[in-house]
Amino acid sequence: MEIAGFKIQDIQQGYREGKFSPTEITKAYLERIKELDKGIQAFIHLNEEDALLQAKDVAEKIQKKETAGLLEGIPVAVKDNICTKGLRTTCGSKMLEDFIPPYDATLIKKLKEAGAIIIGKTNMDEFAMGSSTENSAFATTKNPWDTGKVPGGSSGGSAAAVAAGFAPLAIGSDTGGSIRQPASFCGVVGLKPTYGLVSRYGLIAFASSLDQIGPLTKTVEDCALSLQAIQGPDSMDATSYKERSAENYLEEIKGNIKGLKVGVPKEFFQKGLHGEIAKAIDKSMKLLEEMGAELEEFSLPIMDTALSAYYIISSAEASANLARYDGVRYGYRSEIFEGINELMVNSRTEAFGKEVKRRIMMGTYVLSSGYYDAYYNKAMMLRRKIKDSFSKAFENYDVILSPTSPILPFGIGEKMEDPLEMYLADIYTVSINIAGLPAISIPCGFSNTKLPIGLQLIGKPYQENQLLKAAYHLEQQLEIDTTIPALKEV
Ligand code: GLN
Repeated sequence: MEIAGFKIQDIQQGYREGKFSPTEITKAYLERIKELDKGIQAFIHLNEEDALLQAKDVAEKIQKKETAGLLEGIPVAVKDNICTKGLRTTCGSKMLEDFIPPYDATLIKKLKEAGAIIIGKTNMDEFAMGSSTENSAFATTKNPWDTGKVPGGSSGGSAAAVAAGFAPLAIGSDTGGSIRQPASFCGVVGLKPTYGLVSRYGLIAFASSLDQIGPLTKTVEDCALSLQAIQGPDSMDATSYKERSAENYLEEIKGNIKGLKVGVPKEFFQKGLHGEIAKAIDKSMKLLEEMGAELEEFSLPIMDTALSAYYIISSAEASANLARYDGVRYGYRSEIFEGINELMVNSRTEAFGKEVKRRIMMGTYVLSSGYYDAYYNKAMMLRRKIKDSFSKAFENYDVILSPTSPILPFGIGEKMEDPLEMYLADIYTVSINIAGLPAISIPCGFSNTKLPIGLQLIGKPYQENQLLKAAYHLEQQLEIDTTIPALKEV
């Protein structure tokens, strides 16, 4: 069975027509992964036995016509920072190399309730810190479009899995761009929902006030369907939204975009933006206009401050969140120590990678007395300013449009020695997390060297429907073929 190009909707249709069973589909994906993932390394580990059991379960339900979950029989790859009961969850770190969670994250519960089949856990930058998936303690994921390039990060494994046809749906987490930037690098659709829309219970925290779980898929329709299945209030997460009833995203995306007001922030198109990316975005803007959307350039001068504020706030929160990994309660424990202090120091020294240590140092520094006001408090003031700038912009616009990343997928190893260069890859994405807004990245073209280019749409809080609608119409007009060239066995 040729599944590489399958979308969620193709599989669902196949089930309806009785063309194949959930077991056949699950087997086909697992086989493809086993055959080709050596060259991509999208997965840290597979969930083979359990996935086949789940598939059998779903098949029985379908036969008995019991329920029709939104993701019935859909294989899904999950980023390895989301807790899966009985299935190793490493967070890409030696610290949690052997960690088997005793519970399922709310996301996993929802996926299972919807009938999805968890086929494996995907590679990521350690504790979701990075933009290239090179910070994983286990492997470097390759970009399926060009295996010499990075897939983006930190959800690089999830993005690569969808691009490579290893799963029609993958789940990622986004703290400063980690769903959208890899989606852009791998030519897939990636959505970071409004902060609070998807429960974070069971997501291993990086920066709690910024982290958000979201889907990566091949199409906007698949994205809308997946969001429908995973969103919703959760009493286990105090920051999950309470008052809103679920929208029907899939139905709403087909609506008209005539008169949709699209703001184009000119600061997102200035120095540092790759020429070919600018060109592709330009083409999409013209298409939107032809469809009746009203585009307008405006000024959103947050770029210089957003990146600094992001790295201060996220590192501060990370340093607190990662304090629990001390070699005592759970996680890696050093074998060489005398006394409790040395146990903690040695465990952390041996099990955390370079980037994680850098963030912890930065975070404790900006939180230390004497520097707290100079850095952390300033960053919090900037956070307020950034939020206000977006709120003001949304008085005039329904959505804001920008590139997802200023650069094309870069070479493996190219930016590892220069963390600041690496941080710049997130310049268009971090401010959205700071403001808690939803944003989507969709493929909008290719470079001359056939590397994917992503376009970002940013929305008002809980207005995912507007984003998805604009993205859907653009996708229909663009008609980009995102099937990757055949992968080689290695
Ligand atoms: N690349 C950014 C960082 O390193 C964002 C990471 C993320 O969104 N998890 O912090």
